[in-house]
Amino acid sequence: MPYDPRRDGPHKIEVALLVPLKIRHGRWVADGTETDQAEPGPVNVNCTCGDKASCEAALRAADELELPSGRALADLLAAAAAEEEQAWS
Ligand SMILES: [Zn+2]
Repeated sequence: MPYDPRRDGPHKIEVALLVPLKIRHGRWVADGTETDQAEPGPVNVNCTCGDKASCEAALRAADELELPSGRALADLLAAAAAEEEQAWS
């Protein structure tokens, strides 16, 4: 779903998550609790707001947010899929 400043706020702050997978019975499985942020952490490189000071403050605030657990990430992905599906109907 494309970024929408009216829905998503004035700044486009993004972070990549690492979800460790483990081998169980010869297959990769996700641990439902562990995640970690990929380096370099939250970034605002794709924000087009033009307000550098406000954008940097939003980036610092994002760095303080707790990352979602694996289970919470699954919920976020399910919600995004449902929203996407609704947009197409
Ligand atoms: Zn911004």
